[in-house]
Amino acid sequence: MTVNKVAYQIIKKDLEAKNVRIVAVSKTKPIAAIKELYDLGQRDFGENYVQELADKAAELPKDINWHYIGHLQTNKVRFIAPFVQLIHAVDSLKLLKEINKQAAKHDRVIACLLQVYIAQEESKFGLNESELDILLNELSTCELKNIKITGLMGMASFTDDMSVVKMEFRRLHDFFNKIAQQQTSNIKLETLSMGMSSDYKIAVEVGSNMVRIGSLFFGERSKK
Ligand SMILES: *Cc1c(COP(=O)(O)O)cnc(C)c1O
Repeated sequence: MTVNKVAYQIIKKDLEAKNVRIVAVSKTKPIAAIKELYDLGQRDFGENYVQELADKAAELPKDINWHYIGHLQTNKVRFIAPFVQLIHAVDSLKLLKEINKQAAKHDRVIACLLQVYIAQEESKFGLNESELDILLNELSTCELKNIKITGLMGMASFTDDMSVVKMEFRRLHDFFNKIAQQQTSNIKLETLSMGMSSDYKIAVEVGSNMVRIGSLFFGERSKK
């Protein structure tokens, strides 16, 4: 297994010019592979298993920005609260309250993205647009000082039909623009996390400013 450094350099050059931040998704990949990208200057890495993230963070340099990109269970928040930089897929007030509580214990403010459900297929995770409006309203009524909502995250349908993917991303981008004005003490929507290996180009084309790329850099993952 080798890291595709050439692909990384090309994508990095392209996306830096467009002011798009790259999160290198290293889930299931070994420490050595992460180090290879780290040595090329990559500092943002994404994981979606809590234990794996905690183990890797303990072993790797402290200037890595760790992103938690998976579905986070409330009872696991405490394991990543001491160090996580950005939690990408938050979809309930209950989870936000727990993140706030755990962040307070470490005297931190943890940045979170709200996950919006944009794909056609059924999914258990993410909020639709009206649910998101409701959540933002609820948030403005409770004093959660140790979290800040810094943007939105979405995943397109698993399909080869890139016109569908583009439509979904465009819709999320429009929605992001629509609500981006809503600012409070702990809501400031600046980050739009959308796009993975197969669809990041389309995502960037329609306004993503953060992409989560795994297999293009690290190779395909075996099933876990
Ligand atoms: C695994 C994962 C990615 C990266 O997927 P690739 O297709 O390997 O680029 C991006 N986002 C989330 C939420 C993931 O779970």
